Amino acid sequence: MRVAFLGPPGAGKGTQAQTLARAWGVAHIATGDMLREAIAAGTPLGRQAKGYYDRGELVPDDVIVGMLEERLRRPDASGGFILDGFPRTMAQAEALDRMLKDHGQTVERVVFFSVPETELLRRLTGRRLCRTCGTPFHLVSAPPRKPGICDRCGGELYQREDDRADTVRNRLQVYERQTAPLLDYYRDRNLLTSVEGTGDIGAVQGAVRRAVEGRS
Ligand SMILES: [Zn+2]
Repeated sequence: MRVAFLGPPGAGKGTQAQTLARAWGVAHIATGDMLREAIAAGTPLGRQAKGYYDRGELVPDDVIVGMLEERLRRPDASGGFILDGFPRTMAQAEALDRMLKDHGQTVERVVFFSVPETELLRRLTGRRLCRTCGTPFHLVSAPPRKPGICDRCGGELYQREDDRADTVRNRLQVYERQTAPLLDYYRDRNLLTSVEGTGDIGAVQGAVRRAVEGRS
């Protein structure tokens, strides 16, 4: 099973990919996580990527494609995978087709997680962190008992720069501009299923399973 999950940041595709990769016995390949790990570790790739991240821009295609190519060569990916957050541009989609074709393979299904922008903003701007101990809260899904105060240590809660509404809106716009052509690309090839990402986790998972399991 070789599947790609597309959708804007905050659409919940990572949570679904994690669960379903286990259920299907395939590799969960999250290019965003791989990049964040590279940045945290300070590798050459990570340092290169950090500048783009800090500006809310996408990391260049050749960097991401090289990283993915390496990841697909690892043994756990030979039985199939869920790509989570890849491809994000047409150049990435075409590179993926080429990579798989070299092994006589194709992408079998592409699932798009559709969530309205107002809901994405609510999810993505709600995070608050404790200045003292770093504990994360979320105004909607995990609110502190007292507004603005850490449950654990009484420290002050704050919002990170990249969780602010204008930064988040910029990320969503970049995403939309770059990925809209991808949806057409996969729709034209009869590979695309759009799933409503707004229901509860179980309902969304059921819709994704129906989209993928009947077809591969
Ligand atoms: Zn605290």
